[in-house]
Order: sequence, then C-alpha cells, then structure tokens
Amino acid sequence: MKDDETPSEPARSVLVCPECAAPASQREVRPPWPVRRRRLLQAAALLVALAYIVWRIVGVSPIMSGSATYASVPYSAGFPSNRYTRADIERYASGVVSDGQLLKDLYLNVLGTYELGVTFLPPAGFATHYHRYGWPTRIVSYGYDAQYDDVYAKTNPSAKPSTLRNGWWGWTYMVIRIDAQGRRERFLFVSKGLLGGPLTLIAAWGAGRVLRWLMFLLRVASRDGLRRRDRLARRAPVLCIVVCAIGVTIASLRPQAFPGWASPVPWNPACSDTGVTGADVVQFAKEPDGEAALARAILDATPEAASNPDACLAFAWGSKVSLTSTGWAIGRLLWGTVLEHQGVEASGPRTISFKRDRASVIATVRWRETDGRMAMYSFSYGRAATLVLELCAAWIAAGLGVWPIGWVIRRRTAKRLARGWCVRCGYDLKGLHVVDTS
Ligand SMILES: [Zn+2]
Repeated sequence: MKDDETPSEPARSVLVCPECAAPASQREVRPPWPVRRRRLLQAAALLVALAYIVWRIVGVSPIMSGSATYASVPYSAGFPSNRYTRADIERYASGVVSDGQLLKDLYLNVLGTYELGVTFLPPAGFATHYHRYGWPTRIVSYGYDAQYDDVYAKTNPSAKPSTLRNGWWGWTYMVIRIDAQGRRERFLFVSKGLLGGPLTLIAAWGAGRVLRWLMFLLRVASRDGLRRRDRLARRAPVLCIVVCAIGVTIASLRPQAFPGWASPVPWNPACSDTGVTGADVVQFAKEPDGEAALARAILDATPEAASNPDACLAFAWGSKVSLTSTGWAIGRLLWGTVLEHQGVEASGPRTISFKRDRASVIATVRWRETDGRMAMYSFSYGRAATLVLELCAAWIAAGLGVWPIGWVIRRRTAKRLARGWCVRCGYDLKGLHVVDTS
C-alpha cells in the first residue's frame, strides 16, 4: 500500500483529537438543546402567549352576563345613509323608483315587533366618517366627526376640541385635533398593525414552498432541470414573496373609506308612527311592490312635511311593548344578546342570517312564527385576527431567537472543517498522522 500524507478514511476514523478526544472524522457538532428543541420552544412560547391572552381577556375585560327589562324602547332618530326628500319618497310610493335602497337603508337588525317612526327635517346634524390605510391590518386611520349644516353634503362643519389626552394609548398613538375645515380629526397610528404585512410575507413564503414541493411532486417541474418552468418552480418561494410584497404595498397605500352615521341636531326629534313593524319590512323585501308600500306608509305618517321640500327623511325603530334583553360577552371577542317579550315562546323553524361589518360578523337567529324573540351573536374577527397575529408573532419570535445560535455553530463548524481543525474544540489536527505500518 502506498504511503500517503493524509490518513485514509478507516485510519481517520481511529484518530482522535488530543484536546477533546472527539474523533477526527467527525464532520458535525451536536447543536445545543435550544436548536435541537426549536419546535418545542416555539410551542412553549405559543402556550405562554395563549395563557397571556386568556389572562388578559379574563382580567381586563372579563366574561360578563346580565339581563335587563325595558318597559319600552323610545325612538332615537338618525338619518339614513342616503338622502331622501319627500319627493324621493313619492317616487318610491308611485313605483317610479324601486331599487331596494330605501328598504335596505331603513331596515336595521330589529325585533319583528319594533315599530318604525319617521320625520322630515332639515339635514342639519352630527355625522362621522373615517378612512384607513394598511392591509391586511390597519396601520393608520383618520376619523372625522362634526356638526354639519347638511350631513350629506358635509357643509360648514364645526366641532368641539376633545378632552382626551394625545399620545400613546397602549400600542396605539392617537392625536385628536380640530382640522382646517373645523372637523374633529382623530388620527391613529396602530403600531401592532405593522406586523400584518411581514406576517403575510412569511405566509406567502410558506405558500411558495408548498407550491414548489407540489410542482416537483406532480412532475410539473424538475428539481434540477434547465427549462424555464424548472427555474420558476425553484424560485417559487421568492416569487411569492415579491408578488405578495407588491400586493400588500399597493393595498396598504390605497385609502379604504368607511361611511359613518348621522343624527339630527337637536337630538331626538319627535317621530310619527308609520304602523310598519320590523316583521313588515322583512315581508316588504320579499314582495314586488313592498318598497312602494313602505314609502306610502312614510308619506301617510307625515302629511305636514309636504310644506318643506328640502327636508330630509330621518327614521327610528322603537318598541311600545316591554321586553327583556339578556346578554353575555367573552372579552371583546364574542358576545350574544337575546331580545324577547316576556312570556313569548319561540315557535316555528329557526332562521339564521349573517351580516358583516368592518370588524365583526353578526349572526341573527329568528323564529319564523315568532316576532317577539330574536338572538344575536357577534364575533369580532378584527379582534380574533389580532389574537392570531399575536400568536404568530410569538411563534416566529421564538424561532428567530433560536436561529442565530444554529447559524453561529454551522458557520464555525464549516470554518474549522476547512482549516482542518477539530470541529468540536478547534484544535489543529493537520499535524496529526497515523503511522501506516503496512
Ligand atoms: Zn477537539
């Protein structure tokens, strides 16, 4: 056998480092336990975050329940989202206009026994609206409220300064001021919202990896091919991140506007009974001339309004019958309310309808043959999304916290191997020889 400078593999395997007794053939070091148990650490971080969330829900906004009985629910008039003058209502009454808008604007989620009250007023009042930036989570928002000469045209605003302190409120920075137009502007910077974009990018990267894996699995692309689709498949995670980053940036810079609500000033003007109930409006929505019937009821209830052509419709729902409201809430995440007349037995098949607004989903349960009972369950997906974001952040933070340890060790090992040093302790093994006796 030929004599050689470098020990053969079997020979190398019997060599040991004189410093730490590690075999010279060792090419890897055992990483410390935080690296080996990274998933376990991440799961622990997730549990701690979950425990914190539960503690906060129970401690700060506890699980509540309660019940109250009201002798009646008075009217409290507001302006519908669209302007309706008496002439507009007349067009609905005669059937010239029948677009469903009037029904939609006047129907709120009320008990079937509630009655509709209406009045015509100058459109002076208090109104709010807001717009926000940031996708998928809100980062910055501007809310406006003021008293206007015309709540629809938003003319001649005036507002009182806020008594709230400007500055940080938890993770949110708030500034309330009277803007150049005289409106009260509420600026919010939601620092937690900054997490939404990066988390979406991480999700996109994960999706790209799954896509790449699927393309190799289904043999759409080959792992080491040179075709265009092979190169694209290999770059799928990066491409997904790039596309997602462009999408998140565009969606975040585009303002999302939300209409608010408007109420007449002076507050609570007297309303006239139309004799129309919540159950009637549900029925009107199913009939071809239902909207005209609603409009006729409004006109019949307000004969005196014919003298003022510029007055706008304001409406309210109220109840003259006593009712009981029972409610419960779990944090700000989930709550339920049951409204019922005393002694009413729910009968008939149950119907569930869903309504989505900007931060929650509301499920309304009604009984087809019972107007005097309804249940509402509201789930705040805005709040739920925040909780999921917090859990994701805990998982990722634990993973990122461990990652540098693994990286340092891999780098050190590579360096030691390249220099011919012991991977475990860094002792120079180059001078070490096995005397080949054969
Ligand atoms: Zn060593």
